[in-house]
Amino acid sequence: MSALIIGRFQPFHKGHLSVIKLVAEKSDRTIIGIGSAQLSHTFENPFTAGERHLMISRALHAEGIDDCYLVPIVDINQYSLWVAHVESMVPPFETVYSNNPLTRRLFEEAGYNVDIAPMFDRHIYSGTEVRTRMLHNEDWQSLVPPGVAETIYEVKGDERLRQIMDERL
Ligand code: ATP
Ligand code: MG
Repeated sequence: MSALIIGRFQPFHKGHLSVIKLVAEKSDRTIIGIGSAQLSHTFENPFTAGERHLMISRALHAEGIDDCYLVPIVDINQYSLWVAHVESMVPPFETVYSNNPLTRRLFEEAGYNVDIAPMFDRHIYSGTEVRTRMLHNEDWQSLVPPGVAETIYEVKGDERLRQIMDERL
């Protein structure tokens, strides 16, 4: 069985890692779609697709998970074509893990198995929570795997986020 998980991963956090570990155990092939790949340098989407690719690769490698395919996927803003667009970018898959109602509907209509991805401590493990803590210089590091924090420091992503918000005022 090969499985697809799509997220924006802004940034990749321990909740994402937990769900991927679970899916990777059940699948021969796990495909991670890095969504809204064209976006970066905003509060909601601070990191480039390349930076997200690096942070996820490091986090998975540290866990001994090496059979994942990471594929950046740009938005096309036309829901009727979304599944075909994803299919054109990623290796073949049979099952999609998502909690997003629209994603679920689109892949179900296209004939895929769609499964619920369990949520782990969602009140703290969310991209929004990580970015908010980063903005206020609070402990965001404990919410992300070490390889993610390393990548964010490497690209000065925490400074970038604070500057983006300063410049908004
Ligand atoms: P943001 O707050 O920026 O929207 P997010 O944490 O929701 O960030 P996304 O990249 O939007 O992260 O989510 C991708 C998918 O990751 C979600 O649809 C959800 O299924 C899964 N996910 C998010 N948080 C968790 C979590 N704590 N545990 C398990 N899965 C999660
Ligand atoms: Mg989200």
